[in-house]
This record gives sequence, structure tokens and C-alpha cells, in this order.
Amino acid sequence: MVEPERIAVVGAGPAGAGFALELMKRGFQGELEIYERDPFYRKPCGDVVLRDVLEESPLAPRVLNSIRRFEIRVRGETVFEKEYRDPLWFVIDKPEWVRGMREKAVDLGASMHVKSVFPENLANTHDTVVDARGPFANNGLTKLTISRALVEHPVDPEGVLIDFDPDLMGFLWVFPHERDAANIGLAYKGERSPHLRLERLLEREYGSPKVLRMDTTVITIDQPPRTPRYFHPVYPIGEAQGLVHPLSGEGIRPSHLHGLWFARRLLEEPHPRLAFLRAWDDVNGFVAQMRFQKLLLELVESLPPGGARVEAMRMLSPRLYESFLRDSIRLSDVLSSIAANPRLLGVMAPSLAGLAMRLFAG
Ligand SMILES: Cc1cc2nc3c(=O)[nH]c(=O)nc-3n(C[C@H](O)[C@H](O)[C@H](O)COP(=O)(O)OP(=O)(O)OC[C@H]3O[C@@H](n4cnc5c(N)ncnc54)[C@H](O)[C@@H]3O)c2cc1C
Repeated sequence: MVEPERIAVVGAGPAGAGFALELMKRGFQGELEIYERDPFYRKPCGDVVLRDVLEESPLAPRVLNSIRRFEIRVRGETVFEKEYRDPLWFVIDKPEWVRGMREKAVDLGASMHVKSVFPENLANTHDTVVDARGPFANNGLTKLTISRALVEHPVDPEGVLIDFDPDLMGFLWVFPHERDAANIGLAYKGERSPHLRLERLLEREYGSPKVLRMDTTVITIDQPPRTPRYFHPVYPIGEAQGLVHPLSGEGIRPSHLHGLWFARRLLEEPHPRLAFLRAWDDVNGFVAQMRFQKLLLELVESLPPGGARVEAMRMLSPRLYESFLRDSIRLSDVLSSIAANPRLLGVMAPSLAGLAMRLFAG
């Protein structure tokens, strides 16, 4: 990078705040301005991350729960249950973490403007504009409306439950939130009022617990592009670029790491475009997994509802569900499911033909 430069980052969530802190921590000598519309980061979330976030972040988040026990159901029937010796998932205090990253970046010399802006409007005044508006960026990707409640309800502090409904194309989750609260949410494709469904569920299944917070927002469930979208000098990162795993909804880790890696590349490269493309290479593993998950999602969706989808998901192998928990599903996991349960091939034959053609087409 030819310093000093004037950089703006719009949106300070895990991607934008991570980008800002990493850039400042690594000694950026130019001017960094953060534009964030909300002084308190309060986006509803499951708040679950994998270990890389704890190890790579310039500010380690506070862990509220370490998750070792997993139960996955398909329409109420348990299809996978496992207890790991070491935690696989971590529930973090995401609002506190994001606030901390914003504050530290400012301590190190960045300036913060509490203001909603369009990144394009900063293109004439800044050398580089980083669009980190998350799902609120206008990127044309498919979004899902999703509701989440924090309720006073005792649940296993080291265990989570996920219940898929393939007919509704989505799932319900129950995660712990510290000791005496639960994070319960649901995301179903095509459900326009998930909060009403969630309210009914809390009443029916959990005896109307005290609701500490209930929020509804959107999440991206599309595939990120092979080549990243940008229009110099505006560079979208994180969920603004589509970096969410469409099957699991895991977006904190890829978005945060994308922010960190773009900051590092910017400090190495003379031109932001090259830095941006190199950072995209860095997230290539995530992109490939997200594109594969999107394909699997389409595969399930192409089965007729009302039986076949539920049947197929109940026949998937434990190995595939384990890979799902790590967001690292491979074609071999799908094949292992078929090998373990050849009837799956019959149920999925028409959809698999489509999948094979798509894979061969690249
Ligand atoms: C209900 C729910 C549950 C989820 N659970 C999980 C989970 O358990 N684990 C996981 O890994 N992921 C989860 N995700 C996904 C995860 O929250 C996101 O993918 C991740 O936060 C994306 O980070 P980001 O920084 O790219 O965007 P965001 O976190 O969305 O941050 C965007 C920021 O931009 C700001 N902003 C937006 N527009 C403007 C503007 N015009 N001007 C200024 N500022 C603006 C917003 O206020 C916000 O602070 C969940 C998502 C939802 C909705």
C-alpha cells in the first residue's frame, strides 16, 4: 500500500470492526474512518463460533459456553447425537466483542462516526472504501428472515439441539446462553413471520418462559461468487460479499477472518484491488464449502415435500452430520451416506443427477 492513505469502513460488525482493529494494530499510518449506524452492536445471532475465531482474532471474545454435546433432529426425530471430549463450538459474548474491537481501533487512532452511509458516497473522498454492511448491503443475494429469542430457561450449558424441518427448508436451534438462559431461534425459507412461529413454539414447548429479548432480522443463504464483487474503490467484505454457510448459517468466522485477511493484504500490496483479490484467495476454502452447501440445499429442495425430503435427511450418515457441525461437508460424506444406506440413492436419484451435472459443469 502507498501510504498514507484515506480508508473508510462502512459497518462495524465482526468483518468491519475486525478489519479496522487489525489494520490499526499492524501499524497503518494513514487515516481510517469507521462509519457505523448503530452505536451498540445488537444484531440477533446464535453467537456460536468455531475455534479459529478464538485463536485468530486481534481481540479474543469472551466465551460464555463451550459446547461438547450435540443433538440433531429431523422433524423431531433424533438422527445424530454425540458428546465430544473437547469443545467444538463456543458461544461468545458477540456484542461485547464487537464493541471491544471498535473501541480498540479508535484507541489506536481510527475515528468513529455513528452514521448510516452508502459506501459509494465515500468513493470520491477516500482511496479505499470497505463495505462491511453485512446482509444490509445491496448485493442481490438471497436472504432469509430469521427470529431469535433469549429466554430464561435452563438448558444444558454444554449442549445444543438443532431440529431440521426439510419441508419448511430450515431449522430450529436451542443453544445455551451462559447458565440459566437459552438462545432459541428459527429460520425457515418462505416463512414471512418467524417471530409468530417462535412465540407459539415458546408457549407450546417451553411453557412461555420470560423473554429477555426477541428480534427478527435477515441472513444470507446464497452462495458467494467465485470472483468477488467490487467496484473500485468500494470493496465488500464479510456477509456483504455473501460469506455465510447456507446450511448452518455460520457467518461470524468467515466474515471476521475475511476482514482480518483483507487488512493484512492491504498493508502488503501496492494496489487495493490486488490486496482484495489475494484476500479472496485466502477465503477460498470457505467459498468452496459455501458453494457446495448451497448445492446440497438445492438438492434437498428439489425433492418433493411431504415425505421424501424428511426421509432423505433421516438417512444421512453420522459422518455427514459431524462434517456439518464443522462446516466442512465433502462429496465423500454424501457418498458415505449412500454407501451406508443404498435406499437413499433411490429417494434422491433425480436430484443427484442434477447435482452431478452441476458439479461437472464446474
Ligand atoms: C438470527 C441469526 C443467528 C445467527 N447465528 C450465527 C451463529 O450462531 N454463528 C455464526 O457464525 N453466524 C451466525 N449468524 C450469521 C452472522 O451473524 C453474520 O454472518 C455475521 O455477523 C456477519 O458479519 P458482518 O460483519 O459481515 O455483518 P454484520 O454482523 O451484519 O454487521 C454489519 C454492520 O453494518 C452496520 N450497517 C449496516 N448498514 C449500514 C450503513 N448503511 N451504514 C453504517 N453501518 C451500517 C450494521 O449496524 C452492523 O453493525 C446468525 C445470523 C442471524 C441473523
